[in-house]
Amino acid sequence: MSHPAPNQGLIRDYELPTPEPDSPFRPRKPYRFGTLCATVDNPDQKDQYGSSSVPIYQTSTFKGVDGQYDYTRSGNPTRSHLEHHIAKISSAGHAFAVSSGMAALDVILRLLKPGDEVIAGDDLYGGTNRLLTYLKTHGGVVVHHVDTTNPVNLHKYIKAGKTAMVLLESPTNPLLKIADLATIADQVKQRAPDALVVVDNTMMSPYLQRPLEYGADIVYDSATKYLSGHHDLMAGVITCNDDDLAKQIAFIINSIGNALTPFDCFLLLRGVKTLAIRMDRQQTSAMSVATMLDRLGFKVHYPGLTSHPGREIHERNADGYGAVLSFTTGDKALSERIVGATRLWGISVSFGCVNSLISLPCVMSHASIDAALRAERGLPEDLIRLCVGIEDPVDLIDDLEHALLEAGAITVSAGADQHQFVRATVPRGGASISRAVEKLAYNEHSARKKEDREWFVSAPGKVILFGEHAVVHGVTAIAGAVGLRCYGLSSPRHDGKVALSLMDLGNFSHEWVLDDLPWDAVTSIGVGDPHPDALDQRLVDAIQQRGLPLNIDQNAQAKAAAVAFLYLYMVMTHGGERPSFSFAVRSTLPVGAGLGSSASFSTCAATALLLLHQRISLPPLPEPSRTPDEHDPGHVHVSHEGRRALPRQVAEEVNHWTFVAEKILHGNPSGVDNSVAVYGGALAYTRPGFGRKSGMEGIQGFKSFRFLLTDSRVSRDTKKLVAGVTAKKLAEPAVVEHILDSIQSISNEARRALGDAELPRDALLSALAALIRENHAHLVALGVSHPVLEAIRTQAAAEPYGLSTKLTGAGGGGCAVTLIPDDVKDDVLHALVEGLTSSGYRPYLTSVGGSGLGVLSPYDPANYAVASSKREDADQQPSLREAFEAKGIEELTGWAEQRGRWLYV
Ligand code: PLP
Repeated sequence: MSHPAPNQGLIRDYELPTPEPDSPFRPRKPYRFGTLCATVDNPDQKDQYGSSSVPIYQTSTFKGVDGQYDYTRSGNPTRSHLEHHIAKISSAGHAFAVSSGMAALDVILRLLKPGDEVIAGDDLYGGTNRLLTYLKTHGGVVVHHVDTTNPVNLHKYIKAGKTAMVLLESPTNPLLKIADLATIADQVKQRAPDALVVVDNTMMSPYLQRPLEYGADIVYDSATKYLSGHHDLMAGVITCNDDDLAKQIAFIINSIGNALTPFDCFLLLRGVKTLAIRMDRQQTSAMSVATMLDRLGFKVHYPGLTSHPGREIHERNADGYGAVLSFTTGDKALSERIVGATRLWGISVSFGCVNSLISLPCVMSHASIDAALRAERGLPEDLIRLCVGIEDPVDLIDDLEHALLEAGAITVSAGADQHQFVRATVPRGGASISRAVEKLAYNEHSARKKEDREWFVSAPGKVILFGEHAVVHGVTAIAGAVGLRCYGLSSPRHDGKVALSLMDLGNFSHEWVLDDLPWDAVTSIGVGDPHPDALDQRLVDAIQQRGLPLNIDQNAQAKAAAVAFLYLYMVMTHGGERPSFSFAVRSTLPVGAGLGSSASFSTCAATALLLLHQRISLPPLPEPSRTPDEHDPGHVHVSHEGRRALPRQVAEEVNHWTFVAEKILHGNPSGVDNSVAVYGGALAYTRPGFGRKSGMEGIQGFKSFRFLLTDSRVSRDTKKLVAGVTAKKLAEPAVVEHILDSIQSISNEARRALGDAELPRDALLSALAALIRENHAHLVALGVSHPVLEAIRTQAAAEPYGLSTKLTGAGGGGCAVTLIPDDVKDDVLHALVEGLTSSGYRPYLTSVGGSGLGVLSPYDPANYAVASSKREDADQQPSLREAFEAKGIEELTGWAEQRGRWLYV
């Protein structure tokens, strides 16, 4: 320390129990603190064998009736040694060791009664704040938070007979604000003599500050910190001088049973022996670090700096400046990058360890304080806290400088002294010189690994053909892929950004600078490794809190989609490779109509990301054996019965990741929508837990057929509809059970018919028409239809159409499906479509049972021969992006199909 504070290293007026060669010629001097710390000796508790280290009395009870100890909750010899030692180094008459710092505060706060008032600081440790808030709401205690840097601020709250406690921290954590302990204690005693002045001394330890000497009544420390020094135990210590107070504290500890265990007492005693030597080293290094940051122009909070407003008062309070400091950078993202870029400084909450730690209090130790309250109390979101350890200070400073440089907070001076660092100017948005360097490196890297291809992918939505609602009660449902699809197009870019545009979700679009994403929260998943069952909630939260544009809250669907997209992108990023690209999404499916639009989006996003991260690859195409025919777009897919050009493993990998995205979007999805979107065709699904064979089974040999899907445009509340059926089942169990049984028969029959390769097509379609009518009638009986759905059904059933319609999905609005037999003429169909449109509905002529996931293969049919003979040019196709974004939604599918050879699952 460059400016030694008064009393440094000296403990006054303490009766030494330790042996000292006294002599008449040389009067005995009190031992200095370091000696006291290292010398554990209690004359009243001599060890029977003269053991040099205090033994661990690992016992819960003691034999006999009148011994000094009977039960370890009330007393234990190892704890007595520790408590004696703590009292000795704290200028205290009494000391108590409990299970944590918070346990210590809990014991102290139990001295309060309902109606008592507490005055506490406004920059307290988050846990202290939490416990006080708890007492306020549950214990009838009134708590006033004030800025304790000026004793006068307390005056208006100090009331004789009311104020029972004044709770202080100095320096505060993490802003290192200083309170004048002696003055406050004095003024409190004058105005409210019964009020207890309590000091949390954790930041200083008894080595640097002993508030009992300044009139505090009770002092406590989280001994988890400096007193133990090694982050290998949790403990709290309480000290006081008043005998009555000590009796009350002992009573509380014995009553609630939170005294420190013998083993932890032993560990703590061992730690305390080196307190002085650790603290000396730590605070000397802290001063060097603070000076370095200060010189670079950061706003540094450290009472050792001459610029610190509380320095003089601190020097009166304490014998040193401590080893915790904090600084701001002006930009939260920059602070996050600095914290993430250090190597030697461990990212961790807590402090007081021999190892140096770095943290962002607002995200870590003080996250329990509400963000608005943090702002009110002036706790900057970009604040970085440093807790300096005993490593060589040269290494610590070197590591910090590297992190600052890497994060773009400082740069190498352009002046004469090339080794000098200077603070980098941080333009709005946090761009920096070093980031530009990173980008350069990124570009070099991507140039080496050329991935200049667009990926054009698509996936279908789903309709529930039979069994909706009943499925909740264990009945089998039949779901099929619908011909309406979601399309995703990824286009490469080389600027370290990723963009997402969701044209059919309120035209949402956003670009992210890759470095600004919350990478600190990612646990990436190795190529080929599965995503764990549970989502990484930390990453979801980090994306929601730090990865989204501010205005996205107004667009809930886009927000959910963006979170799922970024989540997949980030966890798939492995080995430092961060593809830069734009991903545009369009959907011919109505969104939010119960047609699996989110699963089709998730499938497109997962597929494009897997391709971009090179986690899946397409099978090589066979060489063309003939010159392409202009009428043949090389479309290998004919229908779902046709060739399966995308291998099973690719489909499985995509399905796995699509399910992850669906979990982000829906919490607990059944897996039906994503399976239909990936595999296409149709499947039968039975929920587990109803005694039937549960699970999902594809219906083999499913034939695609035409459907008219009509969106009633009446939105519905699925949960309410499902709850309604459940309530009905409770009220009329026999009626509902009968309906459920009937629907199970319908599903069974539909499943048999759909999978029966021998059944003539017209017989299949008329069987389905009958099942549709029957199933709809049951849904009406369950009370989930809606007048608009009935109107659509009547319109399609009327002459000349005579078609069968049922609601699909939850009902209560949403969509209806109308089966279109093969012989229905186009003009008849168009008349129906027009009629429905003019009634205000939105009809889509589509099919059911078609393809699942599709990927446009890299070949352009127009260039097919050329491309295959000049392989290196094969990827050099003109970008599809402009046309993709410009096409009208009705033309999109036709246009997409014409782009080339699609490979389907
Ligand atoms: N007081 C301060 C100033 C602290 O920093 C902490 C812990 O970080 C505590 C009290 C609580 O101590 P413990 O974690 O040991 O319960």
